[in-house]
Amino acid sequence: DLKGKTAVVTGSNSGIGLGVATELAKAGADVVLNSFTERDEDHKLAEDIGRTHGVTARYIKADLSKGDEARALIEKAGRCDILMNNAGIQHVAAIEEFPTEKWDAIIAIMLSSAFHTMAVAVPMMRQNGWGRIINLASAHGLRASPYKSAYVAAKHGVVGLTKVTALETAQDPITANAICPGYVMTPLVEDQIPDTMQKYDMDRETAIKEVILERQPSKEFATTEQIGGIATFLCSDAAAQITGTTISVDGGWTAR
Ligand code: NAD
Repeated sequence: DLKGKTAVVTGSNSGIGLGVATELAKAGADVVLNSFTERDEDHKLAEDIGRTHGVTARYIKADLSKGDEARALIEKAGRCDILMNNAGIQHVAAIEEFPTEKWDAIIAIMLSSAFHTMAVAVPMMRQNGWGRIINLASAHGLRASPYKSAYVAAKHGVVGLTKVTALETAQDPITANAICPGYVMTPLVEDQIPDTMQKYDMDRETAIKEVILERQPSKEFATTEQIGGIATFLCSDAAAQITGTTISVDGGWTAR
């Protein structure tokens, strides 16, 4: 039961972040949703979660490509018992053609923002005597693919940063771990299906199994609810000695 705990989930107006915030709210946590936009629908998402699960839910805008906004997000939240660094973007291009501004944005949003949020959240967690840091890395935090230089570098970086944070908080009642999904069904992935079908002249099922899930032996997507369930488990007493490690949720991808 996470009643009385406040969870800050970055990049949570869609996809995995929204799924995790919903599952944590279901387990009783107050939640802070975040993205870089400031729209009525962002605040409405928080209202809906709050009403459905009987918790306090807020939306706080912060553009995590900027370190000061990442720090301000945690300060504005006021309390942060559970921190999930999840915000992310992708860009696919050969290294010699990879735009520098895309490289900088990916490293800033996916790696540096986790450094900034943790730098503010760790002292809060020490003061409150409890904390759970969950960084949403990827199978690409453990394995590489061509044309994803910035993404793979950022996700490997997140895994390394998680280990350092775990060592620095090892004697506090704080844990830091990374979840490493293969493919999870989110709007981001759903959007790639029509293009893939067209490019390879395949029906939907073949495009999913042979192209999108090529490296995922289960040939199934993970769901955002499953990622939320794992985050909730990492917040439980059973997980108190799990720190500085990765949990793969990849249908066997990294077993190869
Ligand atoms: P998504 O596009 O649905 O979610 C990404 C979130 O990050 C959105 O809420 C978006 O608004 C937010 N975001 C982007 N730029 C931001 C910025 N500058 N400031 C603040 N927020 C920003 O995609 P998703 O699939 O839910 O991805 C969530 C995380 O999971 C990412 O880190 C992604 O790399 C990782 N991941 C996804 C998959 C997958 O298959 N979907 C697999 C492995 C890892």
